[in-house]
Amino acid sequence: MLVMKFGGTSVGSQEAFRQVIKIVQDALTRDPQVVVVVSAMSGVTNALIEGATAASRGDHETYQRLKSELLSRHLSTVDQLSLSPAMRLDVSGHIEDRLHDFDRFCRSVAILRELTPRGLDLISALGERLSVVMIAAALSSAGIKAQAVEATELIVTDDNFGQASPLMEETKARTEARLGALLARGIVPVVTGFIGATPEGVTTTLGRSGSDYTAAILGACLAATEIYIWKEVDGIMTADPRIVKEAYTLPEMTYAEAAELAYFGAQVLHPKTIAPAAELGIPLRTVNTFNPAHPGTVLVRERQNTDKRPIQAVSVIKALSLITVEGRGMLGVPGIAARTFAAVARRNANVLMISQSSSEQHICFVVPLAAAKGVIESLEDELRLEMLKQNIDRIGQQAEVAIVAVVGEGIAYTPGVAAQIVGALGKRRINIVAVAQGSSACNFSMVVDIKDADDAVRAIHQDVLMPINGS
Ligand code: ASP
Ligand code: MG
Repeated sequence: MLVMKFGGTSVGSQEAFRQVIKIVQDALTRDPQVVVVVSAMSGVTNALIEGATAASRGDHETYQRLKSELLSRHLSTVDQLSLSPAMRLDVSGHIEDRLHDFDRFCRSVAILRELTPRGLDLISALGERLSVVMIAAALSSAGIKAQAVEATELIVTDDNFGQASPLMEETKARTEARLGALLARGIVPVVTGFIGATPEGVTTTLGRSGSDYTAAILGACLAATEIYIWKEVDGIMTADPRIVKEAYTLPEMTYAEAAELAYFGAQVLHPKTIAPAAELGIPLRTVNTFNPAHPGTVLVRERQNTDKRPIQAVSVIKALSLITVEGRGMLGVPGIAARTFAAVARRNANVLMISQSSSEQHICFVVPLAAAKGVIESLEDELRLEMLKQNIDRIGQQAEVAIVAVVGEGIAYTPGVAAQIVGALGKRRINIVAVAQGSSACNFSMVVDIKDADDAVRAIHQDVLMPINGS
């Protein structure tokens, strides 16, 4: 059993439909059971949310305009499919109905001038309900037996609207029953990504970009042999190709490495969305709809080449600030670190990296630039007494900094890797402001001044990742 998720750009042009049909046909030659998961067309979820938000201000014009734009965009996409007249009528009718729903829902929101998270989910779920019928029709018209299925019938979630979590037991039972029956009859189910429903049947969504999550959930429920995530790039790369020209696609990565990369700002699969697949060790492959011959990147539990490739990729997060709490009087005073981070937490600031010198005279940590001012105020408040007594000399800030993170399972136990990384920067006289390495985590991260960020990424790629290209 294979699960294949197609993103927004795979639904939209004649060329894309042709590719999707070819990809599914090809998959069926390898495995007679294929489940397809589809996102909304690019930009559609945003438009639906925009319409709903406008409605909550009493603005009827915006959602009505968006409705007609969405209608003509979807209908002209249907025109690009070579459908029989009957099927075409069927698909266009469904699209008109769903957009009529959009209009009705937004009108209610506008009358009440209130948009609840529950209402927003009902509205933003419409994008997938529109695209799924187009893909099912495209497959049918190519002679593949396919049927659109709404995930509200399969994925049972809690009622945390906008960010719902699946209740796996119920979801598994329903998925096995509903999709199992279709698969047994040789039908390809084409399932809406992103959405689910509470046990009472109220529509929910799994969070933005949630279609990957849908694919992982269904793959886990059906014990798929492999899950394919079709996007518009060849896979996961060693670095952002906009920064590093020589960046190359990684054939294989571990789930943990992908999670670290996502944490450090790379646009890869989000750890939460792949968790159901990762738990069962189901390989998850990111591939390019428009270059299907490329094998892409497969995520697995363990990779064999860690010795030769201790590191896999280098990433950078910008718009950060380094905050330092300094003072000779901190030595041996218990509780300063706890109070420091409590003060940070009160501002709801996310701490991306922490480092403390062993002399205890110095704690430094990194927060988003936008949060820095509030964090400093909160720290000054919390540590006022210690500053008066001069146990703490200074709360300092370096803005703007970046974290350059090197990711790979081999970092924690391969001697010499850190030296190579640091050496690459030293050789180019790039100053490292702070360093952190978790003892188990597969990353080595450094704070550098923002002006050095891209050069640091290029230096590491050149000196450490290029020599192991192909290994
Ligand atoms: N259409 C949804 C979104 O834009 C889900 C997805 O694309 O995966 O967030
Ligand atoms: Mg999307």
